[in-house]
Amino acid sequence: KELSSAETREMFLRFFESKGHAIEPSQSLIPKDDPSLLWINSGVATLKKYFDGSVIPENRRITNAQKAIRTNDIENVGHTARHHTLFEMMGNFSIGDYFKTDAIPWAWELLTSPEWYDIDPEKLYVTVYPDDNESKQIWLDVVGLPKDHLYEEPDNFWDIGEGPSGPDTEIFYDRGSKYDPDDNEENYPGGENERYLEIWNIVFSQYNHLPGLTDNKDYPELPHKNIDTGMGLERLVSVFQHADTNFETDLFLPIIHAIEGMSDGKKYGDDPELDVSFKVIADHARAVTFAIGDGALPSNEGRGYIIRRLLRRAVVHGRRLGINQVFLKNLVPVVGQIMQSYYPEVLENADYIASIVEKEENRFNKTLTAGLQLLQNVMDDAKQNGGVIDGGVAFKLYDTYGFPLEITIEEAQDNGLTVDEAGFESAMKEQQDRARAARGKQASMGIQDGLLTDLHTESEYVGWTDLEVEDATLV
Ligand code: ATP
Ligand code: MG
Ligand code: MG
Ligand code: MG
Repeated sequence: KELSSAETREMFLRFFESKGHAIEPSQSLIPKDDPSLLWINSGVATLKKYFDGSVIPENRRITNAQKAIRTNDIENVGHTARHHTLFEMMGNFSIGDYFKTDAIPWAWELLTSPEWYDIDPEKLYVTVYPDDNESKQIWLDVVGLPKDHLYEEPDNFWDIGEGPSGPDTEIFYDRGSKYDPDDNEENYPGGENERYLEIWNIVFSQYNHLPGLTDNKDYPELPHKNIDTGMGLERLVSVFQHADTNFETDLFLPIIHAIEGMSDGKKYGDDPELDVSFKVIADHARAVTFAIGDGALPSNEGRGYIIRRLLRRAVVHGRRLGINQVFLKNLVPVVGQIMQSYYPEVLENADYIASIVEKEENRFNKTLTAGLQLLQNVMDDAKQNGGVIDGGVAFKLYDTYGFPLEITIEEAQDNGLTVDEAGFESAMKEQQDRARAARGKQASMGIQDGLLTDLHTESEYVGWTDLEVEDATLV
């Protein structure tokens, strides 16, 4: 079947509506009353109030298509076929209502029925938790999944500490042997590979992780068992649109074409390295647009820091495509247009969002130009002194000016110079050790949230903490 992204989203919601689910609209990316989360990062994140019992839903069956941001996937963007910072997760949820015997066959029906998604069952593979015999039995005997399409995966246990926990089952789409390099030992569903694409994750929260328990075999059963699922819209659309990666779909191609038009004649698909830049810009343009649309603003901390960081990465990648002027703001209405059917507010607010983006871009362009100027001075020095750029200086450029090491190396090469990469690594490591020490302190103060930890881990890699560049000096 050929489906547009809008049709794919709509079909998911209609299917679960036909199974008695109430459709919840996509909520703001900024969590409400939940200081533990920086961004809504999954479909269930906006429904916590139902799962923790603080609000009783009118209908215990809920479905949604929820925008989400995952900052921990930033480094994957553009390098894997399937990761984004902003993406949409489609889900069906049972708040103490139906359980495995409905959730698994329904997932299969939606995916394979000619009336619905009509995906060839031969292409689908499933992983289950080894001890979850119920799910195994349903997959094999009720659904009729062939045995060689079912894999046991010890990681398939969802457990985030005290509270509900349980096994999960994941559904993969086999993209074919052309994505199957012989030398990858992880080429199986659930392994780190580009062949078996994880499309859907179905969590069975059936146990209660009580304080003090460490072995999940000891967790007691929950009196009310829940279903929580998440399917990535962009990934599913890549299947329907026969795309090599999520980016060659109607969700991203118009953005990529707009970027081409602003570059110095670069074309998507000509050079794998430049393609990464196209993808990163397209991804980050969406995330920045939606985040600002939901009321977040660039700043030096928390959410604002993430926006700033995404925007700056996009600008640096823009330079690689020969874009030296303000350009990201022009992508805002393109994003708004693509997403109009489900998120009309983005296009409606495009002028406001673009004005914020433009201001931030202008600010960073000055920084970037200043950084490039400093790099020029450093290179002039290096030319007199052995032709090697000091690793500490390369790190400073990275840390303070947001220059990825590759940019420094490229600039150096263009000038017949090299960079002391080992020196760069050791400067980086020193900073990481400092960050780790600082984080250790915070952990002991009780900051447990995974996402915040991710955030700190990240900021240790791209330390754009020192954003007031006017004050920064290269020594
Ligand atoms: P992966 O193993 O591919 O990183 P995941 O197991 O981390 O995915 P889940 O937490 O299970 O992902 O999220 C549920 C679904 O949401 C996934 O099956 C996938 O379809 C989608 N998804 C998760 N992370 C991303 C992302 N960064 N970009 C796009 N889609 C995503
Ligand atoms: Mg992941
Ligand atoms: Mg996974
Ligand atoms: Mg998963």
